Amino acid sequence: MKDKITRRDFLNGTRVAIGASLLSPYTEVFGAEPSEFALGSDYYPPALTGMRGSHDGSWEVMHARVAGKQWPAGPPEEQYDLVIVGGGISGLSAARFFTRERPGAKVLVLDNHDDFGGHAKRNEFSADGRTLIGYGGTESIDTPASYSNVARDLLVDIGIDVERFYKYFDQKLYDELGLSYAILFDQEHFGQRKLVTGYGTRPWREFAADAPLSDKARADLVRAFTDERDYLPGMSVEEKRSLLAKTSYLDYLRDYVNVDDQILEIYRRWGMSFWCVGMDEVPALSVPSYDDGGGMPGLKYTMPRVGHRGDEPYIFHFPDGNASVARLLVRSLLPDAVPGSTMEDVVTAKLDYSKLDCDGAATRIRLNSTAVNVAHTADQKAVDVTYVHKGKAHTARADRCILACYNSAIPYLCPELPEEQVRGLSYNVKIPLTYTKVQVRNWRAFAKLGIRYVYYTSDFFKQVELDYPVSLGKYEFGKSPDEPMVLHMCYVPFFADRKGPDQWRAGRRKLLETSFATFEEHVRDQLDAALASGGFDADRDIEAITVNRWPHGYSYSPGLLWEPEWPNEESKPWVVGRRPFGRIAIANSDAGASADTNSAITHGYRAVQESL
Ligand SMILES: Cc1cc2nc3c(=O)[nH]c(=O)nc-3n(C[C@H](O)[C@H](O)[C@H](O)COP(=O)(O)OP(=O)(O)OC[C@H]3O[C@@H](n4cnc5c(N)ncnc54)[C@H](O)[C@@H]3O)c2cc1C
Repeated sequence: MKDKITRRDFLNGTRVAIGASLLSPYTEVFGAEPSEFALGSDYYPPALTGMRGSHDGSWEVMHARVAGKQWPAGPPEEQYDLVIVGGGISGLSAARFFTRERPGAKVLVLDNHDDFGGHAKRNEFSADGRTLIGYGGTESIDTPASYSNVARDLLVDIGIDVERFYKYFDQKLYDELGLSYAILFDQEHFGQRKLVTGYGTRPWREFAADAPLSDKARADLVRAFTDERDYLPGMSVEEKRSLLAKTSYLDYLRDYVNVDDQILEIYRRWGMSFWCVGMDEVPALSVPSYDDGGGMPGLKYTMPRVGHRGDEPYIFHFPDGNASVARLLVRSLLPDAVPGSTMEDVVTAKLDYSKLDCDGAATRIRLNSTAVNVAHTADQKAVDVTYVHKGKAHTARADRCILACYNSAIPYLCPELPEEQVRGLSYNVKIPLTYTKVQVRNWRAFAKLGIRYVYYTSDFFKQVELDYPVSLGKYEFGKSPDEPMVLHMCYVPFFADRKGPDQWRAGRRKLLETSFATFEEHVRDQLDAALASGGFDADRDIEAITVNRWPHGYSYSPGLLWEPEWPNEESKPWVVGRRPFGRIAIANSDAGASADTNSAITHGYRAVQESL
């Protein structure tokens, strides 16, 4: 079976697609490329499996730049009104905002990946002639009610009506099938590797009785969830708030709820896919207090808090996540590249990548192109952007430039920036994480065991979960457990002895050193460990694996325990970092220190206003 996956991933996936990228139909007939940037009409990166995300070929040039390599700016080969570095949602939004204000303006978007969208990437799989769609990164329009007006308006502008997800997302399916959350306890901390189902749905006493815990830990778990006890008696809400803002959740559990160490081990890595640090760095005040599937004990009667989503459900999800937002943005810029006209038909639209970068088009999106130097011309009347494409340096001259790329990399692109701004930009240490998608023949084992989500207390992958049940347009989610499914598994490097930015830096290195084979080995082991008793067999049931590796994933966000208090908005490092510099403006979700699409769009808009 290992061979089978290897063949699928590397023969049917990567190698065919590389062939496609190099040989357009024109080349096949005439033997020469019409333009060195043109993509073939059969170029289609979403169908690639294997190692994706920041795939090999996307990161090496920028790493060489950071290590000191230079590419001298040549004479400008092209002239634009605006060059945008970064083809994620922020850069694409900026292109949309700019061209709406300046119809006909010449805009070039550069991105180092072989696909546009930044973190908002689409993964496709083929199951007996049927296409399954998955999300390789940015997964949902999270809490659209909290979006800025400009971000909400942009979604409408590109054709998204978020209300329709109430119809498209089946919120009842897994409940009706009786599927719950489960924990796979690990051998090291709990003495045996054991799956316990019904977290948050079975009575806590029953759940605890099945868990491999000491008697004391069992009693503590039940008490922490069910006792209607205020663990901070005699304190006002304000006093509790300030204490919990400065106390980690693990310290709170240990020192105030007084639970056994085994309970701490259950929750230590609970928030790894969201906060990307251990719960010893997350303030107890940030932890939601409900007690269902994702709930955490000890707070319900001390400091009730529902979490950041308020009343909005987590349903605003296209099958490919916010890759459909990126596709709709590209449609608004280059309609010929993305056939169709609705938020429904974009889901199954077959993109024509050969239309992204055409001679004579006002807007061009140039993939596989890493910016390495961005500098004002000697007369300060333009900006020269030097980038590397297929190993060769090119320079484009622009009236204005927007840097919608990772903010911490900007000082390497723009050595002219003032020191204070460099410090501000460098503060944003990107957070590494991976989304691994596993195509399975069916999900009968989940149905049989009654689970939709497994949390692993101490394993490589933190979780495996069934896909979001969403059907729209011609795309039908496979609602029967007999149908194929794309499972979601999340791995975030964890180092118990390192904190925050140090952990994230080490994690970035670790991600680049971890081979596809290692991911595959853990996928097999962890799925078998959780599901074998439901009839799952990794050798038989896994059809394909795509690892979306994001060493530069989430934006840094303030809010962890060690974040200093900034005296005012202007002194926050990311606010200093995003100041306009001459003809250069700065976007990306990093500019708002917030890992979300709202921030990406909002700061794309601000950067355009500064550029107009
Ligand atoms: C795994 C994952 C899951 C997420 N899930 C959600 C979610 O559910 N909801 C949500 O709102 N947000 C989510 N996010 C946050 C996400 O980062 C934002 O929502 C948004 O997609 C960021 O868009 P962006 O354009 O600001 O940045 P990016 O998507 O990072 O785009 C920037 C682009 O610039 C490119 N670039 C960098 N340097 C250069 C260079 N020198 N030359 C050329 N190009 C360059 C980058 O490679 C990238 O393609 C998630 C992020 C990750 C990593």
